[in-house]
Parts: sequence; C-alpha cells; structure tokens
Amino acid sequence: MITSSAFSGQRFAILGLARSGAAAAEALLASGAQLTVWDRQDVARTPFEGRCEIADPLEMDLSGFDALVVSPGVPLNTHPIAGHAAKHGVPIIGDIELFARARSQLLPHKVVGITGTNGKSTTVALVHHILKMAGIPSLLGGNIGEPIMAQEPLAPGENGEGVYVLELSSYQIDLTTSLDCDAAALTNITPDHLDRYDGFAAYAAAKERLFFMQSARNLAVFGTLKEPVGAIYRRQLELRGEDRAVAADLDALRERQGEWPSLQGPHNLENVAVAVAIVEELGVTEAQWQHALPRFRGLPHRMEIVCEEDGILFINDSKATNTDASAPALVAFPRCDGGKARIHWIVGGLAKEDGLGKCAEHLEDIAAVYTVGEAGPRFADLLEGRVPRVERCELVSEAVRRAKETATEGDVVLFSPACASFDQFRDYEKRGEHFRQLVGVIADCDVDCSAAWSAKDSAL
Ligand code: ADP
Repeated sequence: MITSSAFSGQRFAILGLARSGAAAAEALLASGAQLTVWDRQDVARTPFEGRCEIADPLEMDLSGFDALVVSPGVPLNTHPIAGHAAKHGVPIIGDIELFARARSQLLPHKVVGITGTNGKSTTVALVHHILKMAGIPSLLGGNIGEPIMAQEPLAPGENGEGVYVLELSSYQIDLTTSLDCDAAALTNITPDHLDRYDGFAAYAAAKERLFFMQSARNLAVFGTLKEPVGAIYRRQLELRGEDRAVAADLDALRERQGEWPSLQGPHNLENVAVAVAIVEELGVTEAQWQHALPRFRGLPHRMEIVCEEDGILFINDSKATNTDASAPALVAFPRCDGGKARIHWIVGGLAKEDGLGKCAEHLEDIAAVYTVGEAGPRFADLLEGRVPRVERCELVSEAVRRAKETATEGDVVLFSPACASFDQFRDYEKRGEHFRQLVGVIADCDVDCSAAWSAKDSAL
C-alpha cells in the first residue's frame, strides 16, 4: 500500500468504508495517522474495531481534524456532511488527494490524470498498455481497478520512471486539491451527472479544475475542441503556451486506424490521439506506440469484439449507458463495399434521457434495430420509419436470436444499449456478460466468458 510519514500524527475522519475508503483508512493507519472512521453498515466498520475510533463524523465536533475523507459517491451538493465540515473549517478530501500528499515520499515517478464524460477508462487503459509494452512501469488507479492507496508503489524501471495512470471522475476531482499531473487530459464533456451539479457549466468547471491544479510547465491534452472543452483549451493555451496545451492530433493517426481492431470508431480515434500525446510526453517513441496499438485488446463491455461467426461480428458495448456513448459506435463500422447498411443495433434498458440524442445523427448504417428493456417501446416508436426495420423484443436473448437470424455475412450485431442497465441487470458488467454468454450459445461460437476477462475492470 502507499504510506507517508507526512500523515503521521495528523487527525483524519473517514466517512464511508467501501473500497476506496477502507484502503484510505488502512494506508493512514499504517502511516501513523489518528483516525475516526464511520460507515452506516456495521460489516464495513468491523475490520476497524479496536484499531481506531469509530464514530459518525456528522455527530462529532470536527475542530482539530486535518481533513475529512469521503467517498466520491457521497453527493456533496445535498449531503449534510458538507455544511457540517465547513462549520468546523475542516477540508473535505478523497483518496486521490491523499495520494497527491503522499507523492513526495514515493520514488521518482510521473502522474497522468485523465478525465472526461466518456472515454476515460479506454484512454487510461491504452496509456497503461503502451507504457507496459514500452517497458515502463505503470500502474492504473482512480476510477478504475484497485483503490490507489491499496496498491504497491512503483519503482523506476530500466526504461524510465514509473507512471501512475489515474482515471478521474469529476467527483474525484471535486475531492482533490493538490494533484499536479505531469500530463493531464480531458477527453470530452457532454451533459451527464447533472443531479450532482448546479447545471452543465458547473459540471464542466469541475473537470477544468484538473488543469488548475497542474503546474504550467506540465502537459495538458484535449480530445476535442467542441464546446465547452474548446473554451477550457483556450484558457490553458493562454496559461501554458502551445507546447504545453495541445489538441489531440486525430488527422495524423486516421490512416492507421484500420490496424487497431479494438480501437474502431471516431471516438476511439480521439482516445488514441490523447493517449499518444501523453505517452510521447513520457518518452515513448513512435515505433513503440505503433507496435502497441494493434495489440490492445480493449476493455470489456466497451466496443468489445465478442466473436465473428459466419462473417457476422458480435460487439458488446454494454458500457454505453447514454446516447452520447452509443452514437460513435453506430458509425464505427462503415458500410462495406456493396454499400449495404450493416448494423443490427440492440438498444434499450433504463433510459437516461427522452430522445435519441446524438444517435439520431448516425442512423445511416443501421440495417435493423431490436429494442429491449423498459425503454424498448419508446426507442421503437422513435426509430420506426427512420431505419429499415424495427423489432420489439423486450429481452436481450430474444434480440440476439432475431439479430442472428436476420444478419448476413459482413454485418455487425451491436449491443450498445444507450441506457442504464438497472431495469433488468445489476450493472452494465452483468448485462455485458449476459450478452456475451448469449452470443456464445445462439451464434454457437467460442466466446471468452472467463471470470478473469469479466473482472478485468477491477483487476487491471
Ligand atoms: P468512461 O470511463 O469515461 O465511462 P469508457 O472508455 O468506459 O469511458 O467508455 C464508455 C462508453 O463511451 C463506451 O460505450 C464507449 O464506446 C464510449 N466512448 C469511449 N470513448 C469515447 C469518446 N472519446 N467519445 C464518446 N464516447 C466514447
């Protein structure tokens, strides 16, 4: 785990002992800090009994505490803890801020921080993959994989200093005040999580704070210049100059995209361009990243190639939980030589928005739509007459069966629900695993349903 004598003798309260909170508590205890921890579930509190004070920070006088550590899941805009901590003048932080404060005692290293509405996980996983293939020690953390404070710190390798590659949600940035990333990136910003912010501008401002924490000499990368990212880029350009604030160079990479099977679609070109700008900053050569990109397998549930059977490609994009995330997938498989529409789109679940969003602009390659889940009937109503064929299915199994029957060689069966999963599944991972298994059975092909691959999200 990551420890630091900087915490020794300091007083922290921790609210929430799920994965990142428990890891922060262990790291602080091992660092010699004085702790008060709390979780409303007693099973989460049990491991700390007899090791530190157990009490609810909401019911305590917090004066004298150095900081209150909360999980990014706590909605600070509505939760009473925010006002309570402010009354006692105690800063609220998260585990990424603890990492930032522990950095001075880590061996020489670099930190990459990546945020954005979509593409964070893919881009951090890609940076991690390229670094590893180039022989540079790298560790993934933040919003992906093991909590950062629970991981073994990196040592420099023969090919360079170790790199901590952090995926950062806006909630995590809200709880961080001093993380100076050697390279920071913003993939894109579209409306999301608006229940946690006072409007879209406040959500964008939360993401922009990643750059305000960064020294002017360090690199800032932008996946798109569409607003509101364009405005953030221009402010950074003014602050750090054109060498240090860069827009990802998609044009330089476009021609080679065909060589990277797990990185198809315009959105992935953006993700690759961001990753390349970052790894070059860390000393990776063009020959090294060109070698690594075709060998990237992608992450489970994000445009994941499940199998190809009878010339039909089955794609699991269960992570697409909103229309902005599904839209690029619809144009990721352009029409083949005969000019025929190829996509058999399985869509639906628990809708996050009323209409088709950006998907409405990308219907030209769709051969048929199969609607599922609670939002299925509404998607069917919205799409009838706009695509050649709509089939109302309700269950994913029915949709896969009908898509398999209808699709012909060269077609793509794309499971990109554009909705949350909670109407029929525990989470998007379970939904994607279900799709994979169905494809294995219905298309009768060899599918990797191994627990190791499915658990890759948390194990990376
Ligand atoms: P995040 O970690 O930000 O949620 P992921 O890499 O897990 O991002 O991708 C989530 C969903 O968004 C997937 O359906 C994926 O196809 C889509 N996506 C990935 N990158 C982008 C991008 N740059 N722009 C828009 N959508 C994207």
